[in-house]
Amino acid sequence: MYSPKPTDAPCRNETVPAIATQGLYKRFGDLQVLKGIDFKAHEGEVISILGASGSGKSTFLRCLNLLEMPSAGGLRIFGEEVKLGASGANLRIADRKQIDRLRTQVAMVFQNFCLWSHMTVMENLLEAPVHVQRRNKAEVRAEAEAILDRVGLLDRTKAYPSQLSGGQQQRAAIARALVMKPRVLLFDEPTSALDPELVGEVLKVMRDLAAEGRTMLIVTHEMAFARDVSSRILFLDQGQIGAEGPPDSLFAGGAKERFDQFISRFSRG
Ligand code: ADP
Ligand code: MG
Repeated sequence: MYSPKPTDAPCRNETVPAIATQGLYKRFGDLQVLKGIDFKAHEGEVISILGASGSGKSTFLRCLNLLEMPSAGGLRIFGEEVKLGASGANLRIADRKQIDRLRTQVAMVFQNFCLWSHMTVMENLLEAPVHVQRRNKAEVRAEAEAILDRVGLLDRTKAYPSQLSGGQQQRAAIARALVMKPRVLLFDEPTSALDPELVGEVLKVMRDLAAEGRTMLIVTHEMAFARDVSSRILFLDQGQIGAEGPPDSLFAGGAKERFDQFISRFSRG
């Protein structure tokens, strides 16, 4: 008899984008950082966001899960328009409950891990699901153990962040994001703070997540990884989309001059 395998994978919706921005602007005072970004990410896509320092990559990701309020434009998450009201130069949250709900669907992994230093690895994982999502603690603990096993940290559940290597801390941070059962994962330079020998273990976890069809937006300077794992590259250039497309065609050269210049700086080392 056919019995479907239980899975955490959310139902796919091929037509409604997981994330869509329309004319997204963000300014800090007089500095216009994002200048009208029209962007769509569909479920199952792995999109690497490339661009020079200061081009607005972090700001863009932070707008997508409302850590920053856009100044203008629209944002939809799984088809749901984020309700934003006018507030001086920026928009503001118009429906706090909606934002809290949507934020759990769009998890973020930061360059500097941002684990809670006074909590063990397991406590870091339990915190939001139990206290924010109000899920059953025993169930979350069991799920957390399975996730920690997967990222190779099952033997470190009682360790504090300071007792872990950078690579272990980042894997714990990814586990903490996963236990929220997000539908989209955002990564902001997840390996940039790591010693070179620890980069591989984090990229391996991310490759596994990509291979299982997770929707991921990844700001990275790991060009080989981006080329290999992404279904699409988004190149941000001074707050605008400078180039966009499948990695093979973009990296083949001749895409857009600014992108080629950016890439050639990397290949020169
Ligand atoms: P990237 O991640 O591509 O390096 P960021 O999005 O971090 O770029 O920053 C883009 C620009 O916005 C930079 O000039 C940066 O100094 C500025 N910026 C970012 N965050 C803030 C902030 N909270 N206040 C003022 N300026 C900011
Ligand atoms: Mg950044």
